[in-house]
Amino acid sequence: MKRLVVVSNRVAVPDDSKVRAGGLAVALEEALQQAGGVWFGWSGRIAPQTADSLALIEQGQVTYATVNLSRRDHAEYYNGFANRTLWPIFHYRIDLTDFNRQNYAGYLRVNTLFAEKLLPLLRDEDDIWVHDYHLIPLGEELRRRGVRQRIGFFLHTPFPAMEILLVLPSHERIVRSLCAYDVVGFQTRNDLRAFHDYITVEAGGEVLSNGLVHAFGRTLRAEVFPIGVDVEPLQRAARASVRLQTYRRLRENFGGKCLMIGVDRLDYSKGLRERMHAFGRLLDRYPGYRRRICFMQIAPPSRSDVPEYLQIRRELETEAGHINGTFAEFDWIPIHYLNSSFQRATLAGFYRYSKVGVVTPLRDGMNLVAKEYVATQDPAEPGALVLSRFAGAARELDAALLVNPYDIDGMAETMARAIEMPVAERKERWEDMMAKIRASSIDVWRENFLHALREAPFSTEAA
Ligand code: UDP
Repeated sequence: MKRLVVVSNRVAVPDDSKVRAGGLAVALEEALQQAGGVWFGWSGRIAPQTADSLALIEQGQVTYATVNLSRRDHAEYYNGFANRTLWPIFHYRIDLTDFNRQNYAGYLRVNTLFAEKLLPLLRDEDDIWVHDYHLIPLGEELRRRGVRQRIGFFLHTPFPAMEILLVLPSHERIVRSLCAYDVVGFQTRNDLRAFHDYITVEAGGEVLSNGLVHAFGRTLRAEVFPIGVDVEPLQRAARASVRLQTYRRLRENFGGKCLMIGVDRLDYSKGLRERMHAFGRLLDRYPGYRRRICFMQIAPPSRSDVPEYLQIRRELETEAGHINGTFAEFDWIPIHYLNSSFQRATLAGFYRYSKVGVVTPLRDGMNLVAKEYVATQDPAEPGALVLSRFAGAARELDAALLVNPYDIDGMAETMARAIEMPVAERKERWEDMMAKIRASSIDVWRENFLHALREAPFSTEAA
């Protein structure tokens, strides 16, 4: 039987509390347990030695294989090129992009290290599925070492418009590496269109009538696979959440008020500053809402050793403090800004209790929080979703109240509209969104990708 080999920057090793057991981890686990296979990636540990650090944990049919990174690898590959170059540029933030050749060399070095460590674990019949922007060159590195198995790649972030990507000095190498895969998956049609644009305009390649792409001497399938959420488990968690103490405490604290909620990693791509501005504008323009509404923003810090993340953290503290300082009364605080992370079961209850979900990234590959907010609502009285048109999720969830996150007045108006939305309209919009969320659940996403990989034209041309 064919095994599945999953490669991602971090591996969700069972019992590792530092890796979030989100829907993605569960979905990949399920596929691995069914087919048997290997999950390979970084252990999350920084160690002086990387050379002989491969650790193997066997669980059922699955081998979790992890390597440590040296301090330098971690600085150059992870904090450097992945998170200070590719992440900002893929999110359209040229202004925050660092162009550092040493980090780029570190990125290539770690991808080479991953290829070398993975190679002996591979079997002839394996399907290999590589995840995300940290590991774009991995497929090419494996091909260079003679790997002939099918290799697929899924990009969880946006793929930027060609004119943005061209700013990256290594753009050609990055796209050539993508073309070493047999299947490349994107979140939305926008991302695929941007990729096609680069292939035809910049790389002199072709998009064939059957959707295949021919470029850099290879033929591959590039397709859209919008990632989804684990719908039924989320719904069960939301129904059960009303018995949780956290839910009761939330209800006691916000009882009688209209609660708006935002849940995002603390990242400049999430539009948190603009969202707070808009909430401030709402209180300013519509004084009738003061004391009646509260906004709870959950923002667990991430990538804290990257300077841009410290900067945005400081800015948000100032902004939340400013709005609370301006509008708070002795018995009412408008913004509850929390820098801690919560378990998914707790969040499910928070979403269900909140009348408005606010998901307004400046740019996002998909944004699972938007789908989770919808999936956890009470069908008899669902809340309203305010969603950025620049989140991948807006492609499917067009029944949300779509906003331009740069338009602060527009967002303030839309927040007011969400608060006032009659239940009949909320239900109608929710049903539309739920139908789409069910149709592209995380299981559907995984099966569609793996099907495409198994059906991909088998290309043995050299990368
Ligand atoms: N999340 C969580 N606890 C938190 C905050 C977020 O478990 O305190 C989860 C959230 O439920 C979602 C994921 O983290 O599943 C965030 O995914 P999303 O696509 O929204 O954004 P990303 O962080 O991947 O950019």
